[in-house]
Amino acid sequence: MPVFEEVAREGHEQILYGYDEVSGLKTIIAIHSTALGPALGGTRFFPYETEEEALEDVLRLALGMTYKAAAAGLDLGGGKAVIIGDPKQDKSERLFRAYGRFVDSLQGRYITAEDVGTTTRDMDVVRRETPWALGNSVELGGSGDPSPVTARGLLAATRAVAKKLWGDTDITDKTFVVQGVGKVGSAFVQLLVEERAKVYVSDSYPEAIKRAVDKYDVVPVEPDAVYDVECDIFSPCALGAILNETTIPQLNCQAILGSANNQLATEKDAERIADRGILYAPDFVVNAGGLINVYDELQGYSRTRALHRVDSIYEATLQILDAAEEMSLNPNDAAIEVAKKRIEEIGDLQRFRRSGENVGR
Ligand code: NAD
Repeated sequence: MPVFEEVAREGHEQILYGYDEVSGLKTIIAIHSTALGPALGGTRFFPYETEEEALEDVLRLALGMTYKAAAAGLDLGGGKAVIIGDPKQDKSERLFRAYGRFVDSLQGRYITAEDVGTTTRDMDVVRRETPWALGNSVELGGSGDPSPVTARGLLAATRAVAKKLWGDTDITDKTFVVQGVGKVGSAFVQLLVEERAKVYVSDSYPEAIKRAVDKYDVVPVEPDAVYDVECDIFSPCALGAILNETTIPQLNCQAILGSANNQLATEKDAERIADRGILYAPDFVVNAGGLINVYDELQGYSRTRALHRVDSIYEATLQILDAAEEMSLNPNDAAIEVAKKRIEEIGDLQRFRRSGENVGR
């Protein structure tokens, strides 16, 4: 794959390849932007079939992190890392320590955290080699599992959508379909039930559905039937690319809001959703709770401060939905414009900063 062509297309700053023969570590770090601060993004451990596939994924994810951090108003840029391998078989202390050394060589230009295939415990091992690994265990002064905080951010965004659609933040008796009741989905279901909303749940893993039904007394739906259920809000909390030309015509909801990253299969799908009169709350705006939570570790983690910041996803979501109306854009395009505008307006102030100053280290 012609790498420079790929990099130039979305304006990534830097791509780094790391290798450790002994542990079999093969990793790529992509830094999309450091305009607003160091590039923060998790480490995805995934059995990519080809190096091209891994590179494509890391570039796309790093770009997404730039938008997510900018839209959340954080002093962070966007980056991401992938480790090529099977997280069930290929993890070892040596591999994560070698990876930690590699991250450390960037001296904070890239800061890592957990992502699909990596855990808080893995980040604890990475941390032994570098201070630039966040999402550490609570026992080590870290912020622990980000999922409940991400769910809290989803609830804040839900209130913004409710305000926009129904003029009131109250969601009592509103109907939700939550696709994917893993770590974030199940925490979100709990919050919705506490708000006395009506909740349907679905998951490709039957045991996950059973757990949610038993615990929260919610209604199960078969994975294939999930798009047709009549509801107020459809909430994708499983995989990306599930909003596409096949699923969008089936949707029977007023709004879409969930934690899954990259929900839209293609850029055209944001328009398809708008054409159906459905309000789409952009994934990278509403699921920023996890990022906001690990970001707080840079200042010495305070749960109170982190949750306070996460609650501001309410204002951020409303701002995007209002901007979409003003700019006559769909909310996804509006969110990207708002993020780009912030980078343009304050990004060049970085030249006055000393290295590391903006992250308090
Ligand atoms: P998870 O692996 O704990 O849960 C995902 C759930 O989705 C699992 O129960 C899985 O069985 C189910 N699933 C997979 N494919 C499905 C399908 N086709 N249909 C229905 N269910 C399916 O992951 P998570 O940490 O809860 O994250 C969920 C999503 O949110 C991911 O896309 C993740 O990238 C994103 N996200 C998570 C966080 C976080 O704090 N964990 C933050 C931001 C974004």
